[in-house]
Amino acid sequence: MSKVIVLSTGGTIATRRDTQGVGLAEDAAGDLLGRLPADPGVEVEGVDVLRVGSYLFTPADMREVALRTREALADDRVLGVVVTHGTDTMEETAYLADLFHDDPRPVVFTGAQRPADAVDGDGPRNLADAITVAASGAARGLGVLICFDGVVHAARGTRKTHTVAPAAFSAPDGGPLGRVRAGEVDITLKPVRSEPLDLDAYALDGVRTDVVALYPGCDDTALVAAARAGATGIVLQALGAGNANPIVTREVARLTEAGVVVALSTRVDAGPVAALYGNGGGADLVAAGAIPTGILRAPQARVLLGALLGCHRDRARVREELAARTGAAHTEDRPWSAGTTERTR
Ligand code: ASP
Repeated sequence: MSKVIVLSTGGTIATRRDTQGVGLAEDAAGDLLGRLPADPGVEVEGVDVLRVGSYLFTPADMREVALRTREALADDRVLGVVVTHGTDTMEETAYLADLFHDDPRPVVFTGAQRPADAVDGDGPRNLADAITVAASGAARGLGVLICFDGVVHAARGTRKTHTVAPAAFSAPDGGPLGRVRAGEVDITLKPVRSEPLDLDAYALDGVRTDVVALYPGCDDTALVAAARAGATGIVLQALGAGNANPIVTREVARLTEAGVVVALSTRVDAGPVAALYGNGGGADLVAAGAIPTGILRAPQARVLLGALLGCHRDRARVREELAARTGAAHTEDRPWSAGTTERTR
């Protein structure tokens, strides 16, 4: 008999509060499934993977979720997999799983903004919706998804855009792929996906990736510190379309020369990174060796950089693939060369 597997990892959907109102992830998969608002109409099996807030997740935990997802899909009776996860780093774990996902069956991440013991919790509805999507033929071939507040997003390019509202996620550059309501899935866009990476080749040892945030007047202190701490990859969360200043740019050139892979993202919410300005701006950063990461923001750029370093090791290959997978050739004339979605109708 076909079924959906729910991998439970903790997060607010599994959180209960103490007498001071402080929450900790406590519920197991079985507890979550016991609160579904209605019969899901498909056999569902719960598996406990972790029980933590996702703000505590490590790269090893994220890799573990990708491995357990693959393990779940080894069973032919499985229609799809749901991962319940804290919202804080869901965009990272979902995107990492997506980078390795090589199966047409859907993998759907969900969670909650209100805890398990809230009278008006959003977790049960979100979980029911995610199970519907995971079991749906309409979601096949779309890769890893985030289903939240009735909206279905591709993992890539989706981020947490509200700290507390039930509509926690959005995809500023591609928009949602579709919606789920009353047991019906409506998909209107299809994500453009890259070749899957090899999960068996992905090792974490010797890989350290840091994010360095830029701001007016910043110097190279944080960059130098990251390199000294052993960073093999650094994501710059730069200004505007991807700009810094001459001090930072000089250090980027030095780090690139030393073999550190520097990825260029931005603190701006939407739009691609583009090499437009000199005097330490994006054009100079790219000339110094930084690789623009298209529509990825720092958290997902870091996931991609870490996955490439962990799979390939060879820095030249990492640079090449990072550029190919993010449409590094973005310029003012060709801002959308790396597509995010295609309309299905
Ligand atoms: N606020 C978070 C959540 O939704 C906490 C976490 O990421 O675990 O679960």
